[in-house]
Amino acid sequence: MATSKIACDHCGAPLKYSSGEIIVTCPYCGYTVVIDIGKPFTLEHSLLPSNFNEKKAIDRVKSWMKHSFIAPGDLARRAKFTDVRLQFLPFWVIPITATSTYRGLFERTGSRIEKKGSIKKKYNWVIFGGGRGTEFPTREFDIPLEGKMPYDFRKIPEGAKVFNSEIGEKEAVDMAKQQIKNDHRFLAKEDADRIIDLETEFKVGKAYYLHAPVWIMRYKYKGKNYQVFLDGCEGEVVKGDIPTDSGFF
Ligand SMILES: [Zn+2]
Repeated sequence: MATSKIACDHCGAPLKYSSGEIIVTCPYCGYTVVIDIGKPFTLEHSLLPSNFNEKKAIDRVKSWMKHSFIAPGDLARRAKFTDVRLQFLPFWVIPITATSTYRGLFERTGSRIEKKGSIKKKYNWVIFGGGRGTEFPTREFDIPLEGKMPYDFRKIPEGAKVFNSEIGEKEAVDMAKQQIKNDHRFLAKEDADRIIDLETEFKVGKAYYLHAPVWIMRYKYKGKNYQVFLDGCEGEVVKGDIPTDSGFF
């Protein structure tokens, strides 16, 4: 990936970024710039603080392993952590109220009944802004938004990497709308087997940009590699691979 360099408008430090990155935060002063317009980022930029160092983060994962019903009994003891890193990942949080009205057919019972209904829900919808090649289980991340504070580069622990967003506000809002509409369609299908039409209206609040600490960990167990994502703010496992003892069954 090509890298470009500009000087930070605020502190003058060299600001490196990769092609595709749209919102870039200076690691030396926290100043945030929107690359394609070359102007400062004016929306809210928040941070979830990191509350777990490496040792505490590993302890949380070991405790999660011990409490798993499907994990092998010796997993916490024998898992060898091979790569453990703290990353601050970029997210868009979009307060949004969505109202869908739908029309469909209920056919489950053999007869055909027309169904009409509406679904109204209020969300803080979260869109992951990280690299398009990066996988992050956003839908499984119950992001602890109550703990957010204004972005402060001094709260980034040494060695942690801050990732920039490759998605701008408008694209994030569009993605949120599309995902919500899909969810509503899924909900409507509980009521009507075949949806004839579904319209969704959105009331979009003020979106904000958020960096959240995530520990990305790789561990080895009986010669195989596994991955765990741990929320670095509250210490919850977002998603983790568990070995299944294939010889057991
Ligand atoms: Zn700077």
